[in-house]
Amino acid sequence: MNKKTIRDLKPVEVRGKRALVRVDFNVPLDDSGKVSDDTRIRAALPTIEWLADNGARIVLLSHFGRPKGGPDPKYSLKPVADRLRELTKRRVEFHGASIGPAIVAATKSLGEGDIVLLENTRFHPGEEKNDAELARAFAELGDFFVNDAFGAAHRAHSSTAGVATFLHPAVAGLLMERELEFLGRALAAPKRPFLAILGGAKISGKIDVIEALLPKVEGLLIGGAMACTFYRALDLETGESLVEADRVDLARELLDRARMRLTLPHDCVVAPSLEEPNAAHVVKRDAIPADEAMYDIGPDSIASYSRAIQTAKTVVWNGPMGVFETPPFDRGTRAIAEAMAKATNAGCLTIVGGGDSAAAVEQAGLAQQMTHVSTGGGASLEFLEGKALPGVEVLADK
Ligand code: ADP
Ligand code: MG
Repeated sequence: MNKKTIRDLKPVEVRGKRALVRVDFNVPLDDSGKVSDDTRIRAALPTIEWLADNGARIVLLSHFGRPKGGPDPKYSLKPVADRLRELTKRRVEFHGASIGPAIVAATKSLGEGDIVLLENTRFHPGEEKNDAELARAFAELGDFFVNDAFGAAHRAHSSTAGVATFLHPAVAGLLMERELEFLGRALAAPKRPFLAILGGAKISGKIDVIEALLPKVEGLLIGGAMACTFYRALDLETGESLVEADRVDLARELLDRARMRLTLPHDCVVAPSLEEPNAAHVVKRDAIPADEAMYDIGPDSIASYSRAIQTAKTVVWNGPMGVFETPPFDRGTRAIAEAMAKATNAGCLTIVGGGDSAAAVEQAGLAQQMTHVSTGGGASLEFLEGKALPGVEVLADK
């Protein structure tokens, strides 16, 4: 990690100072408007607690959902403030705005260790345009800037990137540090064998990841609907499966280039439709019925993928192996999660990236047994693609 973090700051730069912290509190709410999954809030606690313990006055900024460029009560961060208060057991104020003289005054009246959460940054139309005036207004809210919003770091917005132009020092929070450490270590100096597992719905969104990982890994295991586009490249029948017809040539080209390192599932779980889970059955990959679709990898594939995982020293996984939201098509995904948990215990570095993949691992109750489950969906993908993240680029170098 070549970026400064809060731990690189001198005590005098922290105590009594206002830390403007960009967090990713973009969490789901239930029907009653309460936070239904507080993973992202909990992920920011180490930074918040560190700052509070070191006497900072904490000002939190986050986006929330996709309001259409103006205030919308549906996208208020108020319920998140309530949850944060329960989790931190500290004073947590909430303000229904995020810039302006009254808010600046509120940040200045905070006591050491106190926390204020401000309203959704996306209530300002300038936020997603990385508007400089808005960034300047955000910068007035703190004495130094901390970016802990890894999940938003791939976006150059006023509160993730622009603000750092006007507020120094700008450093990484502990979650950001952790994300960059683990993802970075896997890519830069992986212990070998290094295995990548890629799945999910579409090959199109993952091409850059495949291209970036292929030269680095000993093996790349394919699952999900993505496998079907590769099957088509082998002239196999794929029935009603999700296939991206316009990516078949690309899949063929990838197979030609990396046959030895690219593994496709040997067998699949197919059904006439997702509404007929009872009709699910296993077929070899060259026997997919023309009127059925592949919804998961089959037991032989699970067994061989699991064995490969046990021999690896580094595993990066992105994209579910099947339609994990609909049992029994969650079996492949669960089995891979279990194999990874076992590998972690045996000393393998296991990393899960991607929103749905993280959700699947969480759902299987195995998140704690991975070395690292990234909180950033799109951001972790862009990192794996080898792209620079704007929210990281703006931070001070060590
Ligand atoms: P991530 O968010 O982890 O990057 P993706 O968004 O790429 O993952 O893919 C997740 C989605 O892929 C899930 O909604 C899952 O249902 C779907 N999926 C996986 N396998 C299949 C399949 N065989 N057919 C249709 N959809 C699939
Ligand atoms: Mg997804």
